Amino acid sequence: MNDKSLGMDRPITRRDFLNGVAIGVGGAVSADVLRQIPGVEAILNAAAADQDTPGYYPPALTGMRGSHDGSFDVSHALRDRRFWTNAGQPSETGETYDLVVAGGGISGLAAAYFYRARTGPSARILILDNHDDFGGHAKRNEFRPKGRLWIANGGTQSIESPFPYSREARALMSAIGIEPVALADAAEKAAHREVFQGLQRAHFFDAETFGADRLVVGSPAPGRGRGDEARKSWEAFLAKTPLAPDVQKDIARLESASVDYMPGLSNDEKKDRLSRISYKAFLLDYVKVQPGVIPFYQVRTHGLYGIGIDAVGALECWGMDYPGFAGMNLDPRATGRMSFTARGEATPKPPYDFHFPDGNASIARLLVRALVPDALPGRTAEDSVLARADYGKLDRAQSPVRIRLGCTVARVRHTGPASSAREVDVTYARGKEVYTVRAKGVVLACWNMMIPYLCPELPEKQQEALRYGVKVPLVYTSVALNNWRAFKKLGISGASTPGMYHTGARLEVPTVIGGYDPTPASPDDSILVRMTRTPCKPGLPARDQQRAGHVELFTTTFETFERKIRDQLARVLQDGGFDPARDIDAITVNRWPHGYAYEYNPLWDPDWPVGQAPCEIGRKPFGRITIANSDAGAAAYSDIAIDQAFRAVNELVGR
Ligand SMILES: Cc1cc2nc3c(=O)[nH]c(=O)nc-3n(C[C@H](O)[C@H](O)[C@H](O)COP(=O)(O)OP(=O)(O)OC[C@H]3O[C@@H](n4cnc5c(N)ncnc54)[C@H](O)[C@@H]3O)c2cc1C
Repeated sequence: MNDKSLGMDRPITRRDFLNGVAIGVGGAVSADVLRQIPGVEAILNAAAADQDTPGYYPPALTGMRGSHDGSFDVSHALRDRRFWTNAGQPSETGETYDLVVAGGGISGLAAAYFYRARTGPSARILILDNHDDFGGHAKRNEFRPKGRLWIANGGTQSIESPFPYSREARALMSAIGIEPVALADAAEKAAHREVFQGLQRAHFFDAETFGADRLVVGSPAPGRGRGDEARKSWEAFLAKTPLAPDVQKDIARLESASVDYMPGLSNDEKKDRLSRISYKAFLLDYVKVQPGVIPFYQVRTHGLYGIGIDAVGALECWGMDYPGFAGMNLDPRATGRMSFTARGEATPKPPYDFHFPDGNASIARLLVRALVPDALPGRTAEDSVLARADYGKLDRAQSPVRIRLGCTVARVRHTGPASSAREVDVTYARGKEVYTVRAKGVVLACWNMMIPYLCPELPEKQQEALRYGVKVPLVYTSVALNNWRAFKKLGISGASTPGMYHTGARLEVPTVIGGYDPTPASPDDSILVRMTRTPCKPGLPARDQQRAGHVELFTTTFETFERKIRDQLARVLQDGGFDPARDIDAITVNRWPHGYAYEYNPLWDPDWPVGQAPCEIGRKPFGRITIANSDAGAAAYSDIAIDQAFRAVNELVGR
């Protein structure tokens, strides 16, 4: 389809209005005209000034979000050793704090919370974050297609983790009003509403990967069982696909047979071997499937690992109940040579899995309410769902806790020798200015790989450890539609698209809670479509795949994303009559080049002795500076971010 048919010229809240470009379009369009376009008001306000500007409300921004333009320039200048040559002399603000926190994600906000809980409500705390919104990866997106409010998670989605939340994490959640089990009971599952009944899962096979564009409705559910019944249901599904007959046969065999592919080995020997080969190698070398089977499974690990089955161990996939292991008689207990995630997947799950409409942005928002009460009106977790945060209240001189956005910490230095200094100077850049504040203690709740640039005095071994992990890049895209008649006509709730730019697209089924209920009455009403992309590069070692993904995401324009999104939805929904030019109202691409914390992958990382993993060496306290963030726990989960904050504050306050 050409750009016009795709709707690239349609006046949605889109690339032209981002990054201040609209404001600089040679004055061709006045701000008054732009303001008439839904959603642009917030963009203009955000672009014009900082968090104190009336109307400043980043959740309503659309276009390129997540690590938005302007949020990473200072960090990259520090990395490239350009920052200090170009930066002016820091201005002394004269501000002094008990605690300064670098990073306003869940870990940084939790650190402020724990510090106050330990030292009292008068503790003066400053939280600095480089983004235009607080929450780190836990971000809220809002849309108003056809005037109806839709809320979505821009990153972190669920209150669930491979292991139960720690006592400290549970206590914090409870103190800010989050009881996941009770909330899950209170929330209505809109999926049960009649309007969604009868919709099925589907697969879309794209011509570039599978030889022909074809939508196949009614994908068998994963883990549907083994044996004849499973085989028949797979055969029926596969017969409708463009896959070659021998590939179809192998998939049906893999999904339904119970075979021991490593006969003669003990349980421990099998598990050890499975932990040292990728799932792809297991399929090719042990199950002996045709190479044409691989593209069907390649991206299945993307959601949890950010890489494909070429780089994820077969034992991890056993832990997650992937096909091929039913006949291998493996002891169901997890072993040491599994990542945090897979070990947890192989153990009984905690009794909660709840997500707010904005995901764990609600944890961040409720922490903000606890720290700066009048910045988020209301009293309960439920009433917070529709509460509008007042960003103008986040950084006021009279408030003991202040949250300052758009500020990248560039240097953290004790005022004397680290072993005896009583204070730390924190220098940060905001816009073109550089400022210094002073604190009795600092928690670095920012990303591990940034810390050596901020704190070059750290021992070399610690810096090296902090640089080890490579954060996992991910993209969470939301597309607001004016209607979803095409989905209804095709009878699908979404489609796996394993060969395409985004590897899946599904209708958002809202969590109905706290007065929030955008559930459409009919397919003529608006809805959100959720899509994910994981920019890995199959064939490379895991960390190199992630590095390549960083580059890709930082160099891909919103326009490219938009074109790919429009084209993909047009192809998948073609037979349903979808018109991308007519049906799309807004697009938000949450780009997370530095996404998940790096989790150790037994396929690529050594078996470190206890206490010697890079995250353990990297998080050691240094004078009055301690280190939080999920990177410090090498696990990409909200509870880990909270646990690391608890430890970092204890190290500081315990002095
Ligand atoms: C797309 C995505 C989906 C996820 N889904 C889930 C989920 O469903 N459930 C779950 O439990 N976990 C999930 N996670 C993981 C979870 O988001 C994280 O574990 C948790 O939110 C991390 O919080 P944090 O505060 O440690 O780090 P972050 O959220 O990364 O916050 C750190 C903040 O520090 C800022 N920063 C970095 N350097 C500086 C500096 N020099 N100066 C100032 N600020 C700086 C960063 O920009 C960021 O805003 C997901 C993560 C991603 C990326």
